[in-house]
Amino acid sequence: MTLLKLENVVKRFGGLRAVDGVSLSLEKGEFLAVVGPNGSGKTTLLNLINGVYKPDGGRIYFEGRDITNMPPYKRARLGIARAFQVPRPFPELTVLDNVVVGAIFNGGYDKAKAREVAEEVLKYVGLYEKRDVLAGRLTFNELRLLELARALAANPKLLLLDEVMAGLNPGEIDAMTHLLKRLAEERGIAAISLVEHRMRAVAKLAHRVVVMHQGKIIAEGPPEKALSDPKVVEIYLGR
Ligand code: ADP
Repeated sequence: MTLLKLENVVKRFGGLRAVDGVSLSLEKGEFLAVVGPNGSGKTTLLNLINGVYKPDGGRIYFEGRDITNMPPYKRARLGIARAFQVPRPFPELTVLDNVVVGAIFNGGYDKAKAREVAEEVLKYVGLYEKRDVLAGRLTFNELRLLELARALAANPKLLLLDEVMAGLNPGEIDAMTHLLKRLAEERGIAAISLVEHRMRAVAKLAHRVVVMHQGKIIAEGPPEKALSDPKVVEIYLGR
């Protein structure tokens, strides 16, 4: 079943076409990596999907419904969640309360249910023992897991991820890889992750890769195939 569909989506900033006619679709439970050098349009693409930006052209569909002009909070309610690379939790709230807030505001749960959901997702990401710790005291890796828990508390169908592996050590990368695989397999959650670095680690995880360059998709397919496309090799070698 097609979860997300973009048709010829364009976003301009002044004279610059940051996203220049992108079409793609994503199935339920599919993990898509969006690869591309700095400035290629990856972040803008995510912001178009979650509604932070409105496209200047093209249409966006979620579960067959046209969401092109829907505001971000309504998209969140439909099941589109975003997890940021550098999370900004409420540092004076506990880990648990940070997730409860996410469950109430983005998941639409009442307080009691939100707490139940928050505890469950904290167990799922492996952060439950830290539930009473103030978020401001977490390590970088723990903050990333908190951010993931916060996004999951909204019960998403589609998770939009910034560079999930950046700044993590090899052990943490393995753990994150495992966790993201389980999201798809056990919960049927689809994900789109941006990748600028650590392409190999993310490639292992992705069902499919699209490579962006100057706002356009220049290669697409299974990870090994997309990343070895001559156009892609050329960009990364800077020739
Ligand atoms: P990436 O995430 O691949 O690094 P971005 O989507 O952030 O790329 O940026 C794509 C292009 O759009 C870049 O040239 C960037 O400078 C430009 N851009 C991004 N956001 C804005 C903005 N809010 N205003 C003006 N230009 C922007």
